[in-house]
Amino acid sequence: MKCPICHQDNDRVVDTRMSDDGSVIRRRRECCNCGRRFTTFERLEVTSTQVVKKDGHRVPFDREKLRCGLERACWKRPVSEEQITTIIAQVEIDVNSSFNSEVDSRFIGERVMEYLREIDQVAYVRFASVYLCFEEARDFAKELDNMMDSPKKREDYPPPKKRKK
Ligand SMILES: [Zn+2]
Repeated sequence: MKCPICHQDNDRVVDTRMSDDGSVIRRRRECCNCGRRFTTFERLEVTSTQVVKKDGHRVPFDREKLRCGLERACWKRPVSEEQITTIIAQVEIDVNSSFNSEVDSRFIGERVMEYLREIDQVAYVRFASVYLCFEEARDFAKELDNMMDSPKKREDYPPPKKRKK
């Protein structure tokens, strides 16, 4: 901690106290350069990440809303509650490690899609179409194309049956 008097970053803590409710820690410090004493306060800061929607509105990151969207996409698909919880947890980690206080809603959608496509292709497509709200149908078609082109996933799709005339 920089000394407020001489601005040297060289101090020692001479006393540490916690507030009665345990929410604030007060530290009495002594500058090793000029000998002046000063106090710092430490308090827990809980900030919820703001999600910036497409229209510019900001809403707090809502785990339950994300869960609803995922459950809808995974309806009657072999995706367990635990897998959904894991996806949400992973997305939260991504959000917290990539941004300070704001995150684009698009970022969240893309992270979810990335995890979901590894688990269940049908749920992935459902989620992509509902949650991301592609501005143009073309975007979605392109997304489907990319998916079908992926050699790893191709075996999931049997070749289309030829129509009898
Ligand atoms: Zn000092």
